[in-house]
Amino acid sequence: MIFGKHINHYYIKYAGWLLAGLAALVAVDYFQLVIPNLYQMVINGMNQGYVMVDGVRTPFNMDFLLDNICMPMVWVILAIVLGRFLWRICIFGAAIKVETDLRNAMFDHAKDLSVQYYQVNKVGNLMSLFTNDLETVQDCYGSGLLMLFDALVLFILSIGKMWRMDPLLTFLCLIPMGLLLAASTVVGNYLTKKWDIRQAAFSKLSDFSQESFSGIAVIKAFVKEAKELMAFRKLNQENEEANVDFTRSSVLLRILVTLFVESVICVILGYGGYLVHEGRFNAGQLVEFIGYFNAIVWPIMAISELIDMTSRGKASLKRISELLDAKQDVVDKPGVEDLKNIRGDIAFRELTFRYPGGEYDVLQDVSFTIHAGENVGVVGKTGSGKTTLVDLILRTYNVPDGSIFIDGHDVNQISIRSLRDGCAYVPQDNFLFSDTIARNIAFSADAVDERQVEEAARLADVDGNIREFAKGYETILGERGVTVSGGQKQRISIARALMKNAPILILDDSVSAVDTKTERTILENLRRTRAGKTTILIAHRISTIEQMDKILFIDDGKLAAVGKHQELYAQNAAYRKMVDLQRLEEEGGRHNA
Ligand code: ADP
Repeated sequence: MIFGKHINHYYIKYAGWLLAGLAALVAVDYFQLVIPNLYQMVINGMNQGYVMVDGVRTPFNMDFLLDNICMPMVWVILAIVLGRFLWRICIFGAAIKVETDLRNAMFDHAKDLSVQYYQVNKVGNLMSLFTNDLETVQDCYGSGLLMLFDALVLFILSIGKMWRMDPLLTFLCLIPMGLLLAASTVVGNYLTKKWDIRQAAFSKLSDFSQESFSGIAVIKAFVKEAKELMAFRKLNQENEEANVDFTRSSVLLRILVTLFVESVICVILGYGGYLVHEGRFNAGQLVEFIGYFNAIVWPIMAISELIDMTSRGKASLKRISELLDAKQDVVDKPGVEDLKNIRGDIAFRELTFRYPGGEYDVLQDVSFTIHAGENVGVVGKTGSGKTTLVDLILRTYNVPDGSIFIDGHDVNQISIRSLRDGCAYVPQDNFLFSDTIARNIAFSADAVDERQVEEAARLADVDGNIREFAKGYETILGERGVTVSGGQKQRISIARALMKNAPILILDDSVSAVDTKTERTILENLRRTRAGKTTILIAHRISTIEQMDKILFIDDGKLAAVGKHQELYAQNAAYRKMVDLQRLEEEGGRHNA
């Protein structure tokens, strides 16, 4: 059984199932304890020729055997089979429902966590929460609950029956059991720590594997397979050691249980044999007493198993709770309203921004205005803050009040959903889903409208490429879109953004992998179809943004200059230097070609 803030309410939600399961369980336990009494009657009947039933001496003959032993046995077995079937369905059924609910809750929470969270917490670790840890918690909820109740009920019923037969013998049996419980508790705490270490080792291994598979192309290109293999082996070794360490402690617990159980059998045989010798017990009663004790061996085993399982469950629930308790830090402020019919005016006012946990201001005192319908280019050296600037328009991170405005509204005063609804974004990492090209392009829409999808693809100049695939728009892309080239990937991502037809379009270095002719076609299409809508384009090549209405030149986190290309070239020395350098490089490239 497992408790915690994130699981307690499921006991109430599935109380009906659990109670039905527990009732079946109690019935099974009750019927199980009828059997030792039947044994006693058979042995005593065969020995003595008669049986004592409720203090009445009854002859032991065929009729008695059939009516009082065989028939009841058949009913008892039927009741036990039915009961076991019922409790399994009810209790394990509830546990599976809890697992599903918890997984939904985890995904629901995880989807609203900030980008920052995913930069700190690796995918492999998150995946192990959704698989390994969740399974452990499910096991603990279902089997744990079952074991706890079964152990308690069977233990109480058996001890009651044993006590009625001989209190002293029962007391002698309980002493080693008490010692066992104390020892199990100590080992159990130790096990929780070991499970924690084991899960951490597993997470590390799964992180590493996930990253290696994602970066397999880089590993191969740099011929670093051997290095990766060595690193993997080391982590695998650590994982094995953590596993062995846990298993060792777990086995120790089982050995302890066996030791104590065997010592109790010695006590029963010793003192019980003495009672038979003294004439206070007969052979049938000794077998009956051992039958009751045998019935509590499983609860005792179950208690140790339970301690072991609960230790694992607690450690896993703690890890899951860390995810569920992770603060959703980029959220709407209370009372914000949707911004409807966004025009596309954007204003930054003295914005200074530092990443959460960062050591310096990535953007400093940035102020500019973009009017609805403008085509704006953003240029600057790598690492100067261009991506950060556009990310902030989408409120990927929190910004100070009064620093960014959309259509004159502070972004902190409008709902994040409506703000992002008004923007289409082509990020640098052109992530494509393992789905058809059509559905990737129509990602923003509820349904795939073939005509619109094709139109968007034409504007992104990728329609021709898509038609070359045997299945055209129905081609399924591999994980992260590996079956298409970098340039095609970029253009499919552009088509996806264009399909949204949002008032603000942001392209982050989105034409870097396409040739200049294709780039020109795409830019021309953008200019034509996005007239009256705001388009922001981060670019490396000056030629990409030369014709834009406005250029933001970012230098080392500051907005060094704003204006048209000719103005910036004439007025800003750093911009001029960058442009001249690029021209020289291009000319050098042409000469070499
Ligand atoms: P650009 O797009 O101009 O290449 P970025 O906006 O990506 O530049 O990065 C600007 C600076 O912010 C860089 O120094 C980068 O290391 C840092 N940076 C980017 N993302 C993060 C982050 N999530 N946390 C901390 N620092 C970051």
